[in-house]
Amino acid sequence: MPTLIPRAEALRRIRAEGGAPTCLMCAIHRREVGDVHVIREDADTLVMLPRYVRRWGHVMTLPKRHVTSYAEVDVALWTRVSQLAHQAARVVEAVMRPRRCYLASTGSSAGELTQTSQHLHIHVVPLYEPDDKPSDIFSWAGGVYVGAPAEWAELTERYRAAWDACWP
Ligand SMILES: [Zn+2]
Repeated sequence: MPTLIPRAEALRRIRAEGGAPTCLMCAIHRREVGDVHVIREDADTLVMLPRYVRRWGHVMTLPKRHVTSYAEVDVALWTRVSQLAHQAARVVEAVMRPRRCYLASTGSSAGELTQTSQHLHIHVVPLYEPDDKPSDIFSWAGGVYVGAPAEWAELTERYRAAWDACWP
């Protein structure tokens, strides 16, 4: 089972793994901050599992180009990232059978922080409890889940297989 760790411990681990990169999302897709659990990747986009999550099964999609506002993203690229989020949500529904799936482009309004980024991205978050709500899902106050290497590998494989089954 994935382990719930306190927010402070998660922040300590993230800093230990990657320091304080100028952009967390760019550092992730450049593999500068440790392992990346990739579901899909091409020259312009990445679909992967964030390593510190409020709900197990959380997926993230992002454009690789460093963009921090929608004015910097053309329709084609954002449509592609959104399409990947929709596909990821379908995969999450098929594999995890959540009660619901949140899709949200959040990110930091306070500059680059240890746990969040200004670089645009879309969260795909499975919800398992009837009282799950955004104020809890998008806060680390209750701690975050981390997996053992074998758990990350197993989840990655299940998602990849479901993706291949839907879009061979
Ligand atoms: Zn970036």
